[in-house]
Amino acid sequence: MNKELSKFGDVKTNISLSKLSTFKIGGIASFLLTISSVQNLVDCLYYLKKNKIPFFVLGNGSNVLFSDEGFLGVIISLKKLNAIKYEDELVESEAGVLLSNISKFCLENELAGLEFLNDIPGTVGGAICTNAHSYGHKIFDYIESVKKIKSVVVSVKFKLKKSNKELIKKELTKFSEKRKTSQPKGLSAGCIFSNPKNFKAGELIDKTGLKGVRVGGAVVSNKHANFIINSGIATAKDVLELTKLIKEKVFEKFKVTLKLEINIIDKYGKQINI
Ligand SMILES: Cc1cc2nc3c(=O)[nH]c(=O)nc-3n(C[C@H](O)[C@H](O)[C@H](O)COP(=O)(O)OP(=O)(O)OC[C@H]3O[C@@H](n4cnc5c(N)ncnc54)[C@H](O)[C@@H]3O)c2cc1C
Repeated sequence: MNKELSKFGDVKTNISLSKLSTFKIGGIASFLLTISSVQNLVDCLYYLKKNKIPFFVLGNGSNVLFSDEGFLGVIISLKKLNAIKYEDELVESEAGVLLSNISKFCLENELAGLEFLNDIPGTVGGAICTNAHSYGHKIFDYIESVKKIKSVVVSVKFKLKKSNKELIKKELTKFSEKRKTSQPKGLSAGCIFSNPKNFKAGELIDKTGLKGVRVGGAVVSNKHANFIINSGIATAKDVLELTKLIKEKVFEKFKVTLKLEINIIDKYGKQINI
């Protein structure tokens, strides 16, 4: 299969998933394919689907928990699809562009709107799939159009507003400061649960007394209770058990069912719900 895959980009075999996710957790993936062009992505998806080969599309791995058992298929990285261009107030970005880079691009070209994305450690494609949001802003509010091949996001057009560097820098600083005071450092995948209607998941978890609670190497952050931190030795099993425990305890106390914000992926690439 190596030879077939290499037609579509750079191929590596037996790659540790812990290197591909911000959680730094996960077993071995059979293949990592870094796609080299949009046409190669089209051909690759056709090949994988025709041959029923499991695949998983990776952005920057900042919203995923991979399995300790690894992944029996092809991890498709889009990081080489990283072009950005603009005309007037429309910015077109390929899916593999890091959010910090699109933010930088907008600053240089004095286009405002996406400042809230600057410190989110994902890619444009991943942000579309997860509707990246922070401090009252969501990426969906800035989208003009999204180009997809099958279910894979290839590029996105954003509708922004002409502004000036000073104002944009001010917004960037405001968001960074907020984040510094509210979010923990350390290995994580961001918020574990999304906020239920009328509640903040972090507050519910905090009021349940779970800050600092640990399963193996996975710990509920003392700074923000909706973050699970990998202390360095956590396994996916540890994180899963802790996630289940949080969900149970919050339900016991508040009768609120928390829903996962992170993507938990099994060894066949299927999303696991708890
Ligand atoms: C410290 C930290 C802080 C964070 N803060 C925030 C925050 O403030 N707000 C927020 O919303 N999130 C936050 N996150 C979570 C995460 O960064 C976002 O969800 C981000 O948008 C995920 O992008 P990614 O490229 O890393 O996606 P990945 O984690 O690589 O993938 C996420 C999902 O999207 C799919 N996917 C990725 N790219 C594509 C594509 N091109 N086409 C189709 N499917 C694709 C994957 O298959 C997977 O199902 C934070 C995470 C960390 C670690």
